[in-house]
Amino acid sequence: MHDDDLLMIPGPVEVSPAVTRATDGPPPSHLDDAFIESFGRSLEMMREVWCASDDSQPFIVAGSGTLAMEMAVGNLLDPGDRAVVVHTGYFSDRMATMIRRRGAEVTEVEADPGAAPAVEEVERVLDEQPADALFATHVDTSTGVRVDAERLAKLADQRDAVSVFDGVCATAGEEFRMADWGADAYVTASQKAIGVAPGLCLMVASPRALRRRSKLETPPPLNVDWKKWRPIMDAYEERDGSYFSTPATTLVQGLEASLAEILEYSLGARNGMDARFAAHERAGKAMRAAWEALDLELVPEQPERTSDTLSAVQIPEGVDASVVDSIGAHGVTVAGGLYPGLEDTYFRVGHMGHVVTRPELLVRTVRAVGEALVEHGHEASVAEAASAAEQHIESY
Ligand code: PMP
Repeated sequence: MHDDDLLMIPGPVEVSPAVTRATDGPPPSHLDDAFIESFGRSLEMMREVWCASDDSQPFIVAGSGTLAMEMAVGNLLDPGDRAVVVHTGYFSDRMATMIRRRGAEVTEVEADPGAAPAVEEVERVLDEQPADALFATHVDTSTGVRVDAERLAKLADQRDAVSVFDGVCATAGEEFRMADWGADAYVTASQKAIGVAPGLCLMVASPRALRRRSKLETPPPLNVDWKKWRPIMDAYEERDGSYFSTPATTLVQGLEASLAEILEYSLGARNGMDARFAAHERAGKAMRAAWEALDLELVPEQPERTSDTLSAVQIPEGVDASVVDSIGAHGVTVAGGLYPGLEDTYFRVGHMGHVVTRPELLVRTVRAVGEALVEHGHEASVAEAASAAEQHIESY
């Protein structure tokens, strides 16, 4: 790997120069005035990036996406509660395992790899046996399938169940309007479309989710307890330092820089989150146009359920999984498959965060993938694929 290699896996991803600058320096104290300001501003901007209401509660805690999932499960379910999990792949499995470990009952609504269960099927399951919570992976990183988060959130709302979305591969990239859709917890980590290095567990909880925590009979483990963390978040938002467990200070500085960049971005007449969502949609469409020109098929079966933050691309006949390394040899790192049992049949290309504002990096990725495939005997025109992507980008 060289310094100018492009990191195009579905997280961690390339970060912007502003984020690199913000995280390049000695770590500040968690009680330093400038750091308190960074933390407070980050919390405020999270509400905007999540399209959440003013009375929702953002959390920034040192950790990973898995910790964020654990935090949602532990604060929203008591042992014995009932949860429905919309199953779209590897990370929905993880969610179901966590819920079972919490002692709650899980019903999984299944779909074949590459598909998402129909919302009507989820509705039928909820009608048969009411649930306390509905969990879904907004974009499952193992398949590139995106659920219909809006309809699922509204469905849960109608059934009086809290809705939890794992947005680790989606938040700040795929459209998500927490307040308008009535979603209750939207969890992520710093290393994907948020555009920072790995190490921050991030989420926003709705007022209803917070009320549910206050009624829990069995508190969650201390380190993920919203009750312990809320006073800390309140203090930082009031521009006062506080301590429960040390924040990842350097990363929070990066978060502030990244969220500011996300909110300042504009694309044509669009501003703020509308622009950011559109830039990811543009990237998703451009990459799909290129894959089609290269005569490649995707893992997601339905175009409307195909994510814009990553492409899960089937390896064509006559080519094997070593093509992933060959793409790397062209200076672009992509990832292999992740869905259990199908790992060697497809590869994954992340296109989220900073790179969606730099179309030339997307085209460079298309070329690297195309050239490696041609070396492996696949017949296709790399120039046509690059131009298909470019045309899509220009049409925005
Ligand atoms: N959920 C999804 C959808 C993910 O893509 C990932 C990470 N690839 C996780 C959860 C887990 O995040 P982390 O690796 O930061 O624990």
